[in-house]
Amino acid sequence: LEEKLSNFESRVPKTYPDVKFLNYVKRKRILITGGAGFVGSHLVDQLMLQGHEVIVVDNFFTGRKRNVEHWVGHENFELIHHDIVNPIFIEVDEIYHLASPASPPHYMHNPVKTIKTNTMGTINVLGLARRCNAKVLIASTSEVYGDPEIHPQPETYWGHVNPIGPRACYDEGKRVAETLTYAYAKQEKMSVRVARIFNTFGPRMHMNDGRVVSNFILQALKNEDITVYGTGTQTRSFQYVTDLVDGIISLMNANYTQPVNLGNPIEHTINEFATKIRNLVGGRSKIVHLEGAIDDPQRRKPDITRAKKFINWEPKYDIKMGLQKTIDYFRQELKQDKYTHRS
Ligand code: NAD
Ligand code: UDP
Repeated sequence: LEEKLSNFESRVPKTYPDVKFLNYVKRKRILITGGAGFVGSHLVDQLMLQGHEVIVVDNFFTGRKRNVEHWVGHENFELIHHDIVNPIFIEVDEIYHLASPASPPHYMHNPVKTIKTNTMGTINVLGLARRCNAKVLIASTSEVYGDPEIHPQPETYWGHVNPIGPRACYDEGKRVAETLTYAYAKQEKMSVRVARIFNTFGPRMHMNDGRVVSNFILQALKNEDITVYGTGTQTRSFQYVTDLVDGIISLMNANYTQPVNLGNPIEHTINEFATKIRNLVGGRSKIVHLEGAIDDPQRRKPDITRAKKFINWEPKYDIKMGLQKTIDYFRQELKQDKYTHRS
């Protein structure tokens, strides 16, 4: 067997990043829905480097092939163009279900489709997990807490969501996704994980996704006005994507089935964040205030006691360093766009 494995390893072309070589007992077949997106593609990298077989299912609504193109052709990797609203029949050991638009402009673009993705898509994923007897992790969100009345937010807080507001398609979609997950777990005795993800940033964020980090960096790089919505006293807590991916994998591997907050508890006002980014980029942008967004949560900060206790995780990355990496990535992308007229 060892000889077979070493032959197999030697066939991996040298151009791919070095992957660990797991034996057949440890290596898993892992499905990542939404794996061509921002978070998903970093998760793909980590699991590929660990030596697993990774299958990405994505409809490329907000994701891009180039986020995972460095793995295309690798024999442990498969990319399937598929909309998760329709059932899929494959054999897997584990599923990370990330497929869903994540930024407010993206999820509000087609609210009905956002609801379908998070409800019908999640039912399809849970059905697949049940058939394959696979462990499944659902990417939920801090948005399940809505505009929170409790601060910081522990997982025991039920939330404060407007069910008919412009954010409801996403917030309620994710809340139903969680409800479905625990209903399947109870009824079908499945092994489930729920990650409540707080604001995350890093390279491969969609430059035009309208989120605060991408908007501010892009505006600062182009010397345009930095647009703060409302007073700018609303807060968010931002984590670097590498921390999130470590947290997601730790949660999948831990023996803990209740929802877990994954986020960096350092809280910033949006005003502070605008200044921080402008100073790091070093441009001439003015910071301007526009009308506030409807139902914009006013405070957000994770209580990560549960993550520390049950999955032995807490964020390690310095925000400034993460922002610098993200700024470098955006600079590179802008240069690329200029030469290739790519959108
Ligand atoms: P993203 O938009 O970059 O990635 C989502 C991916 O899902 C994209 O590749 C998209 O094409 C794909 N997708 C969307 N609808 C699909 C469908 N119907 N069928 C198949 N694929 C579909 O967003 P992201 O930031 O990488 O977010 C990933 C997950 O994490 C999402 O579920 C999101 O709700 C959750 N999340 C992210 C954040 C964050 O700050 N990034 C915060 C909370 C939760
Ligand atoms: N925001 C802003 N200017 C922008 C984009 C966003 O002031 O150009 C604010 C937004 O109103 C919210 C916060 O930044 O208070 C985070 O917004 P984002 O869309 O990144 O994510 P959310 O946490 O709201 O899902």
